[in-house]
Amino acid sequence: MISYSRAFEIAIKTAASLRKQIKSVPLAESVGLVLAREVVSDIDIPPFDRAAMDGYAVRSEDIANVPVELEVIDTLPAGQVSDTVVGRGCAVRIMTGAPVPSGADSVVKVEDTECRDERVTIKVSLPAGKNIASRGEDVRKGDVVAAANTPVKPAMLGLLGAAGAALVDVYRPPEVAVLTTGSELVDISQSPAPGQIRNSNLPVLRALVSDLGMRCREVGSVEDDIDNLREAVRTGLDSDVLLVSGGVSMGEYDFVPRVFEEAGVKKVFHKVAIKPGKPLYLGRKGDGLIFGIPGNPVSTFVSFEMIIKPALLTLSGNSRNRPSFIKATFTSGRGSGSSREQMLPGILSAGDGLPHVKTTEWHGSGDMRGLAYANCFIRVPGDTNPPADGDIVEVHPFGAFR
Ligand code: AMP
Ligand code: MG
Repeated sequence: MISYSRAFEIAIKTAASLRKQIKSVPLAESVGLVLAREVVSDIDIPPFDRAAMDGYAVRSEDIANVPVELEVIDTLPAGQVSDTVVGRGCAVRIMTGAPVPSGADSVVKVEDTECRDERVTIKVSLPAGKNIASRGEDVRKGDVVAAANTPVKPAMLGLLGAAGAALVDVYRPPEVAVLTTGSELVDISQSPAPGQIRNSNLPVLRALVSDLGMRCREVGSVEDDIDNLREAVRTGLDSDVLLVSGGVSMGEYDFVPRVFEEAGVKKVFHKVAIKPGKPLYLGRKGDGLIFGIPGNPVSTFVSFEMIIKPALLTLSGNSRNRPSFIKATFTSGRGSGSSREQMLPGILSAGDGLPHVKTTEWHGSGDMRGLAYANCFIRVPGDTNPPADGDIVEVHPFGAFR
């Protein structure tokens, strides 16, 4: 059995080694995708010395002693260029976003002035450069504004758009097939008969995949029947990634690893020293990635968050693929020791100094309620005592603070 960190590195390396396709898309369609090539700005940003306030463009030396009265010789709205030169004793009325006329070297905001009949009284002294965003101060023409492998977020769209990237090269995101297995499963719309449970992993996996901006293809759910499983796995292998929930442990009816092997999947690893989530399976076939995921709902979620998601992000070209860990003070909760590294569902909140974290009330890898109210995992290294109140622990946040 390999350690969590080893499994993580192998999963990332395997995903990185698979071939990725690149496509060119209009900028607006790139949000949620990952840049396949760097983007270079074709202009300075701002492209000209720009007024940052509504007010008066002046020569700073003219306003060294205030109040002082200046003659208003022009008015400049945004979008207009003027060849007016601001000479001694003169000012130009200027709007935010307009190019600062030559001769002027600062902008006095309108609140610090009083204007009557094209004469303006300036009431404050300002140094040169004040309230002017100077040409190229944010970005220089030729600067790399975004490296390859950067995910495009809404704020990034603004930068790329201003830099002239009307079309961008992005990686085609993987299509992820999801298959659940288990003879005990019924659709969530049904009332379970004796011995049955609702298939809660299906909506969870669908949402986790969609959340990454990837297309989720539902193969459906099959019973623990080897022929049906073969058929469903074959269908799922048409996608770039196949996620199979359940049937990957040591039970008599856990056929998944065997069916993978028959379908030509090469095992990369099976079983990770993580709790919950031990039976996790990773395989590959051609340029396809295949995961067999333990069916217990918390195991499924931990496996996804800590290993599958990083692998999917890598496959989508995203270099920000590592789960982040922060330090927090353990304030209360329960846990038991284990030889495996543990991820305990926790609730992280702001503290004075380090954030505080406590475990949710939960009863192990099947307890969805303990997971649903968590916003982080508390990492407990293997072969250590469970954390005690006041201990500093490592925490992986996966939801917002509350
Ligand atoms: P397995 O991984 O198939 O050994 O299943 C482990 C436990 O998780 C069993 O108690 C299953 O009933 C449960 N389980 C398996 N698949 C699902 C699912 N899709 N939704 C909810 N629970 C599941
Ligand atoms: Mg099962």
